[in-house]
Amino acid sequence: MVRRLLFSYLVLIAVTVTLLAGIVYLETTRTFSSYVNDQSNTHSEMLPVMFNGYYAVNGTWDGIQKDIEDASILINLPITLADHEGQIVAATRLNLVGQSVSAVSDLGQAFPIEEGDGIHIGTVYVGRTLAQQRADEAFLASVTRSQLLAGLVVALIAVGLGAILARSFSRPLTEMNRAAAKIAQGDYSTRVSLQGKDEIAELAFAFNQMAESIKSLEQLRRDLVSNISHDLRTPLTVIRGYLEGLHSGQIADRRSAEMAFEAMHNEVNFLLKLVGDLNQVAAAEAGALPLYLSLIEVSVLVDNVLDRIRPLANTKGVALNKKIAPELPAVNIDLERIEQALFNVLENGIRHTPAGGTIVINVNQAGGNLELAVHDTGEGIPAEHIPHIFERFYRVDPARNQSEGGAGLGLAIAHANVTAHGGTIFVESAGVSGQGSKFTILLPF
Ligand code: ADP
Repeated sequence: MVRRLLFSYLVLIAVTVTLLAGIVYLETTRTFSSYVNDQSNTHSEMLPVMFNGYYAVNGTWDGIQKDIEDASILINLPITLADHEGQIVAATRLNLVGQSVSAVSDLGQAFPIEEGDGIHIGTVYVGRTLAQQRADEAFLASVTRSQLLAGLVVALIAVGLGAILARSFSRPLTEMNRAAAKIAQGDYSTRVSLQGKDEIAELAFAFNQMAESIKSLEQLRRDLVSNISHDLRTPLTVIRGYLEGLHSGQIADRRSAEMAFEAMHNEVNFLLKLVGDLNQVAAAEAGALPLYLSLIEVSVLVDNVLDRIRPLANTKGVALNKKIAPELPAVNIDLERIEQALFNVLENGIRHTPAGGTIVINVNQAGGNLELAVHDTGEGIPAEHIPHIFERFYRVDPARNQSEGGAGLGLAIAHANVTAHGGTIFVESAGVSGQGSKFTILLPF
């Protein structure tokens, strides 16, 4: 990462500095030569006028050599004069006379000479002295050197800054890399530090969130394994005990054998329910709980559940009462799922209410919701357990055996089913025996 960033910086710096140096060099030489020309201009503007005068008087360039030499001394620069055909007719450097201007290089700046009516009669060239040319070249060379040096210094500073920047960009990524490696090794509490508000900080935040959910998933996996193995072991041990008794002949008479089969049947039922519940919890957690919605009359929903739960209430000696508000609108639900939620709540109420107690189910409209409230007169739920009661595998009294309770999945399933409908489920309890608990399910109409 650092290397790639640094390489990109280097390319960027090299291109920028080279381009900048090239542009500055071209611009400097251009400006300098125009400066030099301007300099000579001021001295040389009068030359074409002067020579034009000569031509006007003489009608020819013959004999102008002397004037050229005088003028050259006057402005202290070499002068060359060519006729209208480009033939050199007079020059400070005598050896040029007779040559064509196209054959001689670097004559200097050209000034055309024209007669009053615009007829071109020749060109005067004003050159630079050798000393001046050397000075110009030396000046340009020193400017170029300074530019190169400046470019080099700028490039070095940019590379240094680039290296620091690249490191500061890559530091959080390196940290994340290390954290990811630790998580991969099973250290799920590893987090990266968050700094700033840029994209890297957002990435770090997302990374920490991911680490958090991996941690809770890992915790869930551990809980699941330990809870399931615990919940499986008890009924399997019971079944094995009866099987061994039957096999060894210890359970010999018909009545004991019937009791043993009934007990094993109960345990198998419990195991089947456990597996079914686990399936549902897993589906709910994976967000794969399909809902088959239809408009259901509230009385149908309540009566269905009450019919199913009544045998348990009767066995337990607990009375079941319902109070349904009149003219409730139908509700759009997956009947099976809401029946199950209500069933689980009622079943808990009956289980936790001693014989002679009462369960009341109140059904009302509350705002835009259908409110199903189940109030029991049982042992109640201590305040410290209330926030956890809907968590999977959570049991107020883990030591309670299965005949009195389930695997701690009933309320987790009720919660998943209700929230899948966009509804809520909550409990209120004073935690006082006899005053019981009140579970409320709210479902949007
Ligand atoms: P379980 O399968 O153990 O009943 P639940 O998820 O249905 O699991 O309930 C979780 C825990 O909440 C139970 O272990 C129980 O202690 C407590 N609980 C649920 N309903 C009631 C209630 N009506 N009265 C008292 N305690 C309750």
